[in-house]
Amino acid sequence: MTSPLRIAHMLHGCRTLGPGARTVVWVRGCARRCVGCIATPILGDGPVLELSPDELLARVLESSDGGVTFSGGEPLEQATVVAAAAEALQAAGRNVMVYTGFQLDELRRDNDPQVHRLLAATDILVDGPFEADRQADLLWRGSANQRIHLLSERFRDLADRMDGVGAGVEVRLDSDSNLFWAGVPTRQFVGQLRRAAEEQGIVLTGHGGIWA
Ligand code: SF4
Repeated sequence: MTSPLRIAHMLHGCRTLGPGARTVVWVRGCARRCVGCIATPILGDGPVLELSPDELLARVLESSDGGVTFSGGEPLEQATVVAAAAEALQAAGRNVMVYTGFQLDELRRDNDPQVHRLLAATDILVDGPFEADRQADLLWRGSANQRIHLLSERFRDLADRMDGVGAGVEVRLDSDSNLFWAGVPTRQFVGQLRRAAEEQGIVLTGHGGIWA
């Protein structure tokens, strides 16, 4: 039986991490420790939501989102369950986008059949780790080494948009007063947000993607 997917956060209706409205799934864990990684709080152990592919599909179908983005963390570290989830999502008519610190060429040379299964069920792959010295404001990417690969015919119309600027950052406040952001911000973003809040008399605590 496939192990459940270990998820750090999920967000419905996101418009900054892929085309259209999407459910974003931030998987927990990444063995790399890239300098300046914006996902630092979820790279190691911590709270997880564990969902089977069917449970994840059910949650996505509760929304009107047209696609799902797997971010992280490193989705390829959970390739088997992400592949199963991606297949189920595509079968239900949802498109799939995956972020990975690996390069597409590396993945294509990988001997693990689960990696190839995941690539086959992926419409858009964003590859390469964040490189702080190549930071750039690019569509869905934080550094110039990262590439967008259209692995299916579904988004061929995006080919002309690849060189566009970033899609911005969404900031959400949930019912428990947790502030959460989603997108590919600059490294200055957190400080800028904190200062802007303080100018309004609001003190943000915590770090990373969530403040309480
Ligand atoms: S590969 Fe990506 S998620 Fe992993 S540490 Fe590097 S930038 Fe962060």
